[in-house]
Order: sequence, then C-alpha cells, then structure tokens
Amino acid sequence: RSAPNHSAPAQSLPAPIRPAGAQALDSAPHSAPALSAQARPSPRAHGPTACAFAFPTPGPGPQPPPLPAFPETPGAEPACCPLAFRLDPFTDYGSSLTVTLPAELQAHQPFQVILRYTSTDAPAIWWLDPELTYGNAKPFVFTQGHSVCNRSFFPCFDTPAVKCTYSAVVKAPSGVQVLMSATQSTYVEEEGVYRFHMEHPVPAYLVALVAGDLKPADIGPRSRVWAEPCLLPTATNKLSGAVEEWLSAAERLYGPYMWGRYDIVFLPPSFPIVAMENPCLTFIISSILESDEFLVIDVIHEVAHSWFGNAVTNATWEEMWLSEGLATYAQRRITTETYGAAFTCLETAFRLDALHRQMRLLGEDSPVSKLQVKLEPGVNPSHLMNLFTYEKGYCFVYYLSQLCGDPQRFDEFLRAYVEKYKFTSVVAQDLLDSFLSFFPELKEQSVDCRAGLEFERWLNATGPPLAEPDLSQGSSLTRPVEALFQLWTAEPLDQAAALASAIDISKWRTFQTALFLDRLLDGSPLPQEVVMSLSKCYSSLLDSMNAEIRIRWLQIVVRNYYYPDLHRVRRFLESQMSRMYTIPLYEDLCTGALKSFALEVFYQTQGRLHPNLRRTIQQILSQGLGPSAEPSTDPSAEPVSAGADRDSDSPALLLGDEAPSSAISLRDVNVSA
Ligand SMILES: [Zn+2]
Repeated sequence: RSAPNHSAPAQSLPAPIRPAGAQALDSAPHSAPALSAQARPSPRAHGPTACAFAFPTPGPGPQPPPLPAFPETPGAEPACCPLAFRLDPFTDYGSSLTVTLPAELQAHQPFQVILRYTSTDAPAIWWLDPELTYGNAKPFVFTQGHSVCNRSFFPCFDTPAVKCTYSAVVKAPSGVQVLMSATQSTYVEEEGVYRFHMEHPVPAYLVALVAGDLKPADIGPRSRVWAEPCLLPTATNKLSGAVEEWLSAAERLYGPYMWGRYDIVFLPPSFPIVAMENPCLTFIISSILESDEFLVIDVIHEVAHSWFGNAVTNATWEEMWLSEGLATYAQRRITTETYGAAFTCLETAFRLDALHRQMRLLGEDSPVSKLQVKLEPGVNPSHLMNLFTYEKGYCFVYYLSQLCGDPQRFDEFLRAYVEKYKFTSVVAQDLLDSFLSFFPELKEQSVDCRAGLEFERWLNATGPPLAEPDLSQGSSLTRPVEALFQLWTAEPLDQAAALASAIDISKWRTFQTALFLDRLLDGSPLPQEVVMSLSKCYSSLLDSMNAEIRIRWLQIVVRNYYYPDLHRVRRFLESQMSRMYTIPLYEDLCTGALKSFALEVFYQTQGRLHPNLRRTIQQILSQGLGPSAEPSTDPSAEPVSAGADRDSDSPALLLGDEAPSSAISLRDVNVSA
C-alpha cells in the first residue's frame, strides 16, 4: 500500500485564493454552489476582474508540492492570499469546511479557491495489496463515491444538487494504468503522469478513479473493457458487440448518448458493490463475469444511468428513486427491445419477488419503504437505499407509462425530460410536472389525484407499490418455475419428487433457476426428506452452474443443516472473495448451529480477504446476525448487509475501521439491480 504524493495535512496549510481562469478542482461556471453564509461564488458573466491577493509565504515544516500551473488571464497580476478556514465536526463520515472569503471580493467577481489536502486511507478509497488482485502482481486502488464517500477523497460539495466539471492530474508508477470517469485523458509516459478532464458537470459522487494492472480491449466503436490481463479474454468475449447494441437501443429510446465513450472496468472481488455507473467508465465486479444473465442486466442498468442518474440527477438523497426507478425502467425498456418482453418480465418477476421478501422482513410500515424517505441529520443516505428505491420506484414509473397508454409515447416524454434537464439535478416534482405538461389530457383528467393512486401517495405511503406491472408476457418462463415449486411442496412427497425430478431445469434461464431457489429459500427450513430429495435431484447439476445459482443452493443447504452437501459450502467459500458471495453464507452459518464450521473456513481463507470484508465477517462470527436484526440509525453502521443485498449501485461501505452492524439485514434478499 502506498499513498499518493501528498505531503502535508490540510490543516497545516492556508487555503489560498486565486482569480478564476482554470481548474484545480474545477468549480465550473454552471455549478455556482452555495459555499456558506460568508461566500457565494458567482457566474462568470461579469468578466474576469481578478482580485488582488498574493501567495502566502510557506511556513516551516514539509513543503507542499508546487501548485499546478494555471493559465493566467492575460495581463492579470498573479493574485493569491491565504484564507481563514474552519473545520467543524459534521458526521463520522465527514467534516464541514468553511472558508471565509475576503471582504474585498465583489459580488459576481470570479475567484478560485485552492485547497491543499491529503487523503490516504479513506472510506472512498480502497487500496489493495497485490494478493487481493487476480494477477497477484501489482497493487490496485479504486474509489467508490456513492453516496457520500467522496468527501473523503477530495474536498467537495458532496450533494447531488451541485454539479461541476473536474480535472485531475494523477502520477502513477510505471506499469500501473490509471483510469477516471472522465471524457478526456492523456498520458505522458516519461513523467508517469495522467491528466483527466470531465467536460460535463457531474455531482461529486460520480468522480471515480481506478489504477492497477489493467489492459484494454475494444468491444465496440466507442467501448472497450479494461481488466487484469488474465480476465481480459473472458470479459471481451462476453461483452464484445453487446454494449454497442445496448447503447444504440438506449439512444433510439432516449436520445443521443452524451458522454462520448462507454468503457467498462472490471474490479477485483473486494469491490464492495456489484457495479457503479461512473460516467464514461462503468465499474463492475469481476465475479459477475461467470453469471451471464446477471452481467447483462447489471451492465444494461448502468448504461441506463447514463441518461437517468448521471445526466439528470436526483437533487436530494431523499429521492434516490428518481435515479434508480427511472434507470430500472429504462433498463427494462432496453431489454424488451433487445431480448423481448418474456425475458424482461421474468427478470422483473424475479426482482419483485425479492421486493416482497424484503417487505416481509422490514414490515409494511417501515419508513424506508417510502419513495420519498426522510433523511435525518447525521444519517448516511446510503442507509436509505433498498429494493424499494429500485422496484417501487420502477413500479411508479411504469404506472406513469400506463397512464399515458403507450410505452412509446412515454419514451418520447422521457426523451424530452432528459433533453430539458440534462446536466442538472431535479426533484420528483420536476418529473411529475413535466409529465403532466407533456400529457395535458392527463392533467385535465387529474390523474395525479385518482383515489388510492394519488401521486402523493405513491411518494409518501409506506408498504408495497400501489400498482404492479402486468407480467403475463413472461408466463412462459415463470409458469414452469411456479409449477416445479408447487411439486416440491406437495404431498405425498415421494410422488411429487418423482414428477419434479423428471423436469429438466438444466436449460432454464438463470433467472428462472434463481427464482425457483429463492422460493425454496423462503420456505426453509424444509422437511429433511424434501432437502434430501432436492439434493439428490439438483446438487451436482447446480454445483456446475454460475455463482448466482450456487450461492442460493448453498444457502438452502445451510439453512436446512444438510450436512452431506456442506463440503460444497466450504469449497465455495474457499474460492469466493467478494462480499456478495461470502456474507450471506457466513450470516446463515452463524445464525444457525454451524458457527464452528464457519470459523474454521474463515481462518483458512481470511488471508485472501480484503481487510474490510475480513472485519465484517469477524463481526458476524463474533455476534451472529439473526433475521430479526433491528434497523439501526447509527451512521457508522453498514448500510445494508451488502453481501446479501446486491443492488448494483447500492452504497459502498463507510466503515473505515468500524466493524459494521447490519443496519437492515437483507440476508434473505439475493438480488442484483
Ligand atoms: Zn442503479
């Protein structure tokens, strides 16, 4: 592990001020963030009159690195002065920085604030020793900003309401490839220096960096994959041509892709979530490569975020459904166009099944089942994210599309909505007002006030979605799943098992098998003779399938104490190093009577686990996590049991050295969004 070239802590240095002209951490003209009562930066409209301040004389102690060279306004005096600043406690995931601007600064006068800071081990920044990568050759680092982690990466207005462009200069050892979520990048090999620039305004959480032994391969005219060399052929094979197909489908629906390139980087198993929609460069966990259908859905979901979430962003963390619900809707429009309605309905059924499972765990009156959740001071917004954010949000958007009666007309509306609000942040009312003005006939009918389906109720009622989509077009795929599940729970078992075992599931879609296993998991513990028959019928077959299938089967094994298959659990845990495939199993093992087995496996494998994951598992081992784990508002707690909740871009852990306590235990929810 090595820290970047920062030489002094922020507090030891004054924050100098320079006239506007170029970007360090660029507060571009469009962003105009409200700094605090003391300061309000202004738009560029009134010309580049520089304020006359001078550089401070550096004090004793380690000298800071030289300031980056900014192009000066022709004829302007170099002007810099130290500024008074204050750091105040905010929450345990960040402090507030107040900078006092000089009284001489006039309203509308452009200025630039330069902050020197050091960031080493921080919630947003994950340093990996070589042995935590696939190649074991070079160290690796990645950042995960969503939702409020990036304040530990660089000083920022860490709210999705504020957007700005950014530039970055990154120095890396030779042989280490650096990538960022930027529209432009250059590399000067002799200096080992990368320069990045994001030309469109983005919220702080979308600034992302990754560096390691990464190699590229083209998979389309504007896309390439980046992966460790040993993974590159697989990644290329699975995505070649497909990403362009998805991008083109999305463009036909929602207008031009506005970010230039769409690249994908595969991250080591310690990446704490499944995927993150960083603009120009989707981050995705390598472990998903072996589960094809999940890979497809996860990438398409991130593609959809290019329009919904990245271009048009929810202005507050209380309305994350605006990004997730719309991205999920767009993702399903893309899969309908590309793979047909039946597959899309199957995937939706699988996910809504998980939503209802989550609701049984949380209770119908859980405040986090609202679309508009209340963010109390000090609470990490990531804790508010759950399947409701995605699926109840999706159901509301789907309901709106049904109101207008024609999905294509609704696509046109969304296209106009993106065109109007791209590169800005919006609240739900903006979406709903736009909807009603796009469809004046609906406004006249007061569709927003229909009894029982009021827009207000959609936003603020707890419980399940007020309406769910008609998934009958998927019945050719979902009906066999239902039928097989019924057989396995019918009496007498021996006859039913005989009938069930005659059904060949080896040709099923992954989502069918996963849905079937989820149902069995819901019913666990099952009678021992059922588990025995299930094992006889499926264990070897499922063991040859992808990890999404195996984890579900192994959870059934564990929850039913089916010892003959326990060796498969051990083998799985010995080969899986990601949160999403380890934590659900450890939680199940420790909830039941298999804790000593869990301890033994953990001691054998812990050396290959990322320290954060190791800590999480240690905590599970020391406490055990029951299905009735209480929701917690402790901001240091893990937002959700990330291993079990597999929302693509659900929050990173904000743990630092904190051991997590599962805020909302979603151990029964194995889904990916
Ligand atoms: Zn998402």
